[in-house]
Amino acid sequence: MPHRLALVGIGKIARDQHIPAIAGEPAFDLAATASRNATVEGVAGYRALADLLEAEPDIACVSLATPPQARYDDARRAIEAGKHVMLEKPPGATLSEVHDLQERAAARGVTLFATWHSRHAAAVSAARDWLSGRAIRSVRVDWREDVRRWHPGQDWIWEAGGLGVFDPGINGLSILTAILPDPLRLTAAELTFPSNRETPVAAELTFAPLGDAPVGAGFDWLETGEPVWNIAVETDGGRMVLSEGGARLMVDGTEVATGPDREYPGLYARFAQLVAAGESEVDLTPLRHAADAFMLGRRVEGDPFHW
Ligand code: NAP
Repeated sequence: MPHRLALVGIGKIARDQHIPAIAGEPAFDLAATASRNATVEGVAGYRALADLLEAEPDIACVSLATPPQARYDDARRAIEAGKHVMLEKPPGATLSEVHDLQERAAARGVTLFATWHSRHAAAVSAARDWLSGRAIRSVRVDWREDVRRWHPGQDWIWEAGGLGVFDPGINGLSILTAILPDPLRLTAAELTFPSNRETPVAAELTFAPLGDAPVGAGFDWLETGEPVWNIAVETDGGRMVLSEGGARLMVDGTEVATGPDREYPGLYARFAQLVAAGESEVDLTPLRHAADAFMLGRRVEGDPFHW
């Protein structure tokens, strides 16, 4: 019998990815949604998770696809009701609230899965395997996209807690921290804030070198044209470029791995595994680096941003 699952926050990513991925995953049945302004045809819809949980006591799992500022209260409510919980990235607006959810999930004996969808991109595991055992000489992440194309009209990304350009940039950090053999430590950052917004539009991050190898990352939300979602690593065995958000791996100009987009099917398959095993998976490393950048970052005021 599939687990009856509730999806919360019927917006862009719920429609683009969660609903098709749930439909393709035999372990789950989309039984209900909670969203203030949207429903899914043929699925019981509620305006708030509290109403849903009261009306549908046999829901086993809750997947939260709301913006991070709206995540904690619903996640806590679901855990306290004894449901297994899956969180969109970033898993919360602060580190403390996710630590709190971890403790509550452990105490209640339910699964908490903090997802990083980019880690499921087609060439990420090939990149990790290729790097393993090689001497790294430099690492550079470039994550640049047009905010008007990828986040049209989403005001929460410009509000405190919405992370600004770290909303996409954290995807690059989630991949970087999954493929490098050694942990990273941020040493400097410069964040550019539009003069009329609460979150940054661009960021330049410097990490402590890995041995002698410099490690840096640059995020920019004002890139026009095709997005650049790349990680380049120079090694003693050649130059690796993981591009297209982790979907394509090139070594010295030759493609060595690629594949179709299976990120969200991969997330729901992993959620099913965790629920079956009675385990949780919460890796806060990408969010920690983002938080460090906000703590350590030098603030630069940029031009005002208007849609
Ligand atoms: P979105 O469409 O703006 O928001 C999702 C839905 O959440 C909204 O439609 C809204 O539905 C509900 N919501 C609840 N509280 C809200 C609040 N305080 N502010 C705004 N909406 C609220 O955002 P999204 O692009 O789907 O992103 C949601 C999460 O998925 C984010 O954490 C994002 O980083 C992640 N994500 C997004 C993408 C992408 O391509 N967009 C890709 C991967 C991951 P109601 O008004 O009906 O309640």
